Amino acid sequence: DVTATKGNEFEDYYLKRDLLMGIYEMGFEHPSPIQEAAIPVSLAGRDILARAKNGTGKTGAYLIPILERADLKQNIASALILVPTRELALQTAQVCKKLGRHIEGLAVMVSTGGTSLKDDIMRFYQPVHVLVATPGRVLDMADKGVCKLSKCGMLIMDEADKLLAPEFTQVVEQIIGKHMPRDRQISLFSATFPVAVKGFRDRWLRKPHEINLMDELTLRGITQFYAFMEESKKVHCLNTLFSKLQINQSIIFCNSVNRVELLARKITELGYSCFYIHAKMPQEQRNRVFHDFRSGACRNLVSSDLFTRGIDIQAVNVVINFDFPRSSETYLHRVGRSGRFGHRGLAISLITYEDRHNLYRIEQELGTEISPIPPLVDKSLY
Ligand code: ADP
Ligand code: MG
Repeated sequence: DVTATKGNEFEDYYLKRDLLMGIYEMGFEHPSPIQEAAIPVSLAGRDILARAKNGTGKTGAYLIPILERADLKQNIASALILVPTRELALQTAQVCKKLGRHIEGLAVMVSTGGTSLKDDIMRFYQPVHVLVATPGRVLDMADKGVCKLSKCGMLIMDEADKLLAPEFTQVVEQIIGKHMPRDRQISLFSATFPVAVKGFRDRWLRKPHEINLMDELTLRGITQFYAFMEESKKVHCLNTLFSKLQINQSIIFCNSVNRVELLARKITELGYSCFYIHAKMPQEQRNRVFHDFRSGACRNLVSSDLFTRGIDIQAVNVVINFDFPRSSETYLHRVGRSGRFGHRGLAISLITYEDRHNLYRIEQELGTEISPIPPLVDKSLY
């Protein structure tokens, strides 16, 4: 939620009045958490490596300091914003112009592939303070001497994970290494940080301030078991688990919509209360089921893989993989919990012969241990 705030205000950053007006006219009342974390650090000129989910206000987080610090007396770029696509460049430039609409004389320019080189070159004869670009085109322009980056002390890499895909990395590094001044600030914004980003950080960033606002899923506090059986024994096994375990609330995952409905019927026949939810249900109905389950109207929920982080329901102490997931990512989304919540839980996977390779692989990929289920599960574990 971009509006959630600890109480800082945009005025607290001592921004120029004309910039503040733009911010408020955009409808931004308070800084979002990523803005709160990044703006003061960025204003101070420090390198930044920031991770935050999509839709949390990263654009404002880097544009506001740029607009505050851009040197309008120069006619060449003070800041370069690199983005992976033309669409994103256009959109970012638009936001920049809107935020800066009261800043007199501000020139925002877009330069991307897929447009006429000739037109692009002609446009560079006009003043530019903030340049939004894709890497290939801007390197081309800089190599030609058309785009001057010698005074460009601020570099933003938005969607940095995509910018550092193999085909882009070299281009980006040439822009910085060949054309930007030594005294420069580099900020990376992204939702994910693959290895390529870490390599780049180590090569180019100077003591970056790292911000991580992802609620990462973790398996800490969750005891993971598997039970090995034939497909035809699964319902029987579930029945046994229901009678043996002290389930507060449980979520039972199946790999397909059909199996969700089928299993929900069987569980009801066994005499246990049960809802089901899956990806083919209308959103409104899903919301209702989920809401009712959350409020405790029912003990068990059979689900497909539609809601990932939704399982952070405090009362759910047991997650059952009636069908074993195919990827470690799905396993983590079903079983893992947001690190902020420390409560314990039990994850039990029903494994058939076909699942055995997946089980070992997922264990390895997640660096976790999934053990055979003991005859009696200690209640203190969940
Ligand atoms: P991200 O790049 O993190 O995916 P965006 O920068 O595109 O997110 O912002 C997502 C939406 O939130 C946009 O519509 C933007 O106008 C809005 N937004 C950003 N910051 C604020 C704020 N401080 N207050 C209210 N809305 C905001
Ligand atoms: Mg963004």
